[in-house]
Amino acid sequence: MSPRPVLQALASPTAAPTLPHYLPQADECTLFAQAHAAQLPLLLKGPTGCGKTRLVEHMAARLGRPLITVSGHDDLGAADLTGRHLIQGGDTRWVDGPLARAVRAGAIFYLDEVVEARKDITVVLHPLADDRRVLPLERHGELLPAAPGFMLVLSYNPGYQHLLKGLKPSTRQRFVALTLGCPSPELEARIVQSEGGCTPAVAARLVHLAQALRRLTEQDLEETASTRLLVMAARLTGQGLSLQRAAQVAVMEALSDDAQTLAALQELLHAVL
Ligand code: ADP
Repeated sequence: MSPRPVLQALASPTAAPTLPHYLPQADECTLFAQAHAAQLPLLLKGPTGCGKTRLVEHMAARLGRPLITVSGHDDLGAADLTGRHLIQGGDTRWVDGPLARAVRAGAIFYLDEVVEARKDITVVLHPLADDRRVLPLERHGELLPAAPGFMLVLSYNPGYQHLLKGLKPSTRQRFVALTLGCPSPELEARIVQSEGGCTPAVAARLVHLAQALRRLTEQDLEETASTRLLVMAARLTGQGLSLQRAAQVAVMEALSDDAQTLAALQELLHAVL
């Protein structure tokens, strides 16, 4: 059987000149493309810095769709996404919010850290996420159908979650969900090398450090070392900083503010690097 068109389109990832670089952990690129082709929304789960945003940027370019990204925060409400009336020179004028712009343009709309946002956003996300594919602009009196190519992508970090901040089952059950974890050591070393512009040896040592840090229990650290932190350390070594100092300022200092914890991390760093 010949590959389906969506998979054929993915066969030449180098086709777009400005393709953001992404090294897949598993089948997430194919799955993303299939969800897009099937007009299904996607929920990306995973710790901070594991590549969720980069995956979305990469796939938007590969699928040839514009990308509109909004970061969730505790003051982000439905009107920030849909739009509002603005008064200009005595007249009121409707101005689309980022979600309305994405829906009209058939763009990929990426809402990062969705659980941080206010609960009223579900009112606008639900009719877009199920087979209605419409955005109610109540204040504007418009029911906006999603243009072909529109896709809703949400992400969140299950590690940060507590009871009050989870996603409701009624929201979860509208989405195809994909978990991105930490990449395998081999893959992570390739990512750190290419993103951080360092030698394979430096990348391997940073990944080795990250693995030691990840073996610490959850009680020891709120969040563990992400690929993002390793990339930052690798970039600093390219500026002439020693590997140990780079790891200290880019990795260890990001993990804790507590002096005792930092001293323990420093010992670990000396033992490992
Ligand atoms: P998240 O959105 O999950 O917090 P990002 O997508 O911003 O994380 O990733 C942080 C950084 O780590 C990226 O800017 C990139 O340099 C690097 N990175 C992580 N995973 C990958 C990957 N699979 N391929 C390429 N770069 C990656």
